[in-house]
Amino acid sequence: MDIAANIATIRERISVICQACGRDPDQVRLVAVSKKKPAAAIEAAIAAGQPLFGESYVQECVAKIDAVQRAAEWHFIGALQSNKVKYLRGKVAMIHSVDRLSLAEEIDRQWGKDAGCVDILIQVNLGEETSKAGTTAEQAVELVRLVAPLRHVRIRGLMALPPWYDDPEQVRPYFRQLRQLAGQVAALDLPNVSMQDLSMGMSHDFEVAIEEGATLVRIGTAIFGAR
Ligand SMILES: *Cc1c(COP(=O)(O)O)cnc(C)c1O
Repeated sequence: MDIAANIATIRERISVICQACGRDPDQVRLVAVSKKKPAAAIEAAIAAGQPLFGESYVQECVAKIDAVQRAAEWHFIGALQSNKVKYLRGKVAMIHSVDRLSLAEEIDRQWGKDAGCVDILIQVNLGEETSKAGTTAEQAVELVRLVAPLRHVRIRGLMALPPWYDDPEQVRPYFRQLRQLAGQVAALDLPNVSMQDLSMGMSHDFEVAIEEGATLVRIGTAIFGAR
């Protein structure tokens, strides 16, 4: 597994697709999803110039943040139980998977202990799949309204994990829906709420996601190999 070569390839593909759709590649951040991969793989990616990593399991995430010697930025992207939020405090820069008020309140409480603030995204379950976390598109606006007043979280946008299709074109309507929803929220102009980030797109469909406005693409397999 040549992690450096894989990262170079992904960066090139991001650059090509940005050029093709008239976007600035600096507006698309690559989140290297390192779940189930060892700290050594992350260090190889950092050595190859990759600064940002996404993890999905709290214990594993914290263990790896502590194990990795070099500086990196960490995002939490997985399903999150409120009673585990405390382990992430001060360690992650962004939580992509906020899908209910009680979770946002616990994040607010934990980060408030250090008078800190953490960036969050509201996760939307666009396909309304029972197997997946996320608020419904209908409830997302209301959730944003309720979370916005919390002082130790800052809503930066939306995240989605749409249904899986072999053909990425079939995922496009979901990506588009997330962007439209972000537009609706942005139009409300709520204090403490920005819709600058759209976290969408994975190894097999990130190019379509970028065409539809993704600013954070979460890529695991194409960098680190199969899990
Ligand atoms: C595992 C995971 C990814 C990465 O998926 P790949 O297909 O390996 O690129 C992206 N987002 C979330 C939320 C994940 O759990």
